[in-house]
Amino acid sequence: MFCIPGHYETDLESVLIPYGLIQDRIERLARDILRDNSPESIVALCVLKGGHKFFVDLCDHIQIVCRNSKVSLPMAIDFIRLKSYVGTESSQDVQVIGGDNLADLKGKNVLVVEDIIDTGRTMTKLISLLKTYDPKSVQVASLLVKRTPQSVGYKPDYIGFEVPDKFVVGYALDYNEYFRDLGHICVINENGKRKYAT
Ligand code: 5GP
Repeated sequence: MFCIPGHYETDLESVLIPYGLIQDRIERLARDILRDNSPESIVALCVLKGGHKFFVDLCDHIQIVCRNSKVSLPMAIDFIRLKSYVGTESSQDVQVIGGDNLADLKGKNVLVVEDIIDTGRTMTKLISLLKTYDPKSVQVASLLVKRTPQSVGYKPDYIGFEVPDKFVVGYALDYNEYFRDLGHICVINENGKRKYAT
């Protein structure tokens, strides 16, 4: 019932969240973020690579609302790159493998934009790291939060959707770098895992 690229047709168990629904939810999140933060300025901090589509669409929706109303939210953007997954397994060790000069975040309101919170370990570690740079505030918007017994109990300030404890791909979320080029958020199947295993 959905448009799936031919190269992934046999690799998916189901479409969990269609692209259009993602867009609708992001528009609402943009409004919530504006309501809570306007007119203060923020630094929107994109967690690469999985967060990049959510980041772009969220920033676009914030701009559209600002353009069409009297609400204002001056926004700078910044990027950080982390890695905690190998295949479908969350490694215990969260690595910071890129990022701009975090010292520039001193005194700023930081909005971290992430794709998915699973156990919550990555985000807990990132928040403690950011706080060492003395920002005015740190908030987190995550498109997805997984319902998992492995959760450390962390909940972000803004949540797009809660998802079941399955490995999801699409809308920039990858499996070994594949499936980022899929518009919907989908559950990968065993065939997909085998096909794109490292
Ligand atoms: P956590 O530290 O919360 O267990 O893991 C967070 C990170 O693991 C996310 O930023 C994301 O990169 C990756 N991750 C967790 N669950 C999934 C999933 O279902 N699909 C994909 N593609 N990545 C995931």
